[in-house]
Amino acid sequence: MNALSNQVRAAEHYRLEFCRRPLSSSLIEGSGYHGLMTQRQRRASARPLTPGQRARQLANLANGTTLLGLALARAAGTVVSSGPRGLVIAAGYRWHLPRAGAFAMGNVIVCRTSAEQLASNTALLGHEEKHCSQYACCLGLPFLPLYFLAAGWSLLRTGDPASANFFERLAGLEAGGYVDIRIPRPAPRDAGGIEV
Ligand SMILES: [Zn+2]
Repeated sequence: MNALSNQVRAAEHYRLEFCRRPLSSSLIEGSGYHGLMTQRQRRASARPLTPGQRARQLANLANGTTLLGLALARAAGTVVSSGPRGLVIAAGYRWHLPRAGAFAMGNVIVCRTSAEQLASNTALLGHEEKHCSQYACCLGLPFLPLYFLAAGWSLLRTGDPASANFFERLAGLEAGGYVDIRIPRPAPRDAGGIEV
C-alpha cells in the first residue's frame, strides 16, 4: 500500500511537472486549456474531485495508463494541460493514427483540436471521459485488447466498428460523433415507395 501511494505520489508529481512545461514552441501553454477557459470551465477545473473521480484518477495512475498517455502526448508534441474532473487534456495531436478526432489513454484525453475547443464540446469531452472510466474499470491496459475485440465484433455484426461496440455504446455513440447504423432511417420523401 505504501509502495502504491509512493508510486501515485511520484506519478502525480510527474504529471504536474509535465503539465507545467510547454511542449512545442508553436503551441504554448498560454493558448492551452487554461489560457482561454471560460469562467465556467475554470470553475469546473478548480472544483474538488468527487470520490469517484479521485478513485478513477488514482486507479489510472496506479495502473500506468495515465503515464503512458502522458508519454504519448509528449512524444507527439501536444500541449498538455489540466482539464476538469481530474482529466488531463493533450491538445494539437497531429499523428495519423489513430484517426479519431479525440481518444483517451488513462486519464489523458488526446485531441486534434485545441484544449478550449474540446472543453466547449461537452458531449465529446463527456464521451472521452467515459472511456477514461472504462480504463479504470478494466484495470488499465486490458481495456485496449477488450476495446479492439468489441470493435471487431461490431464490425462483423454491423460493418461498422462502433455501432455494436459495447464500450462505444456505453460512452454514447452520438456524443462520440458516431452514427448508429443499427437504427433504421426513414426513406427519403421522394423515394415514392420504390424498393432499392
Ligand atoms: Zn469513443
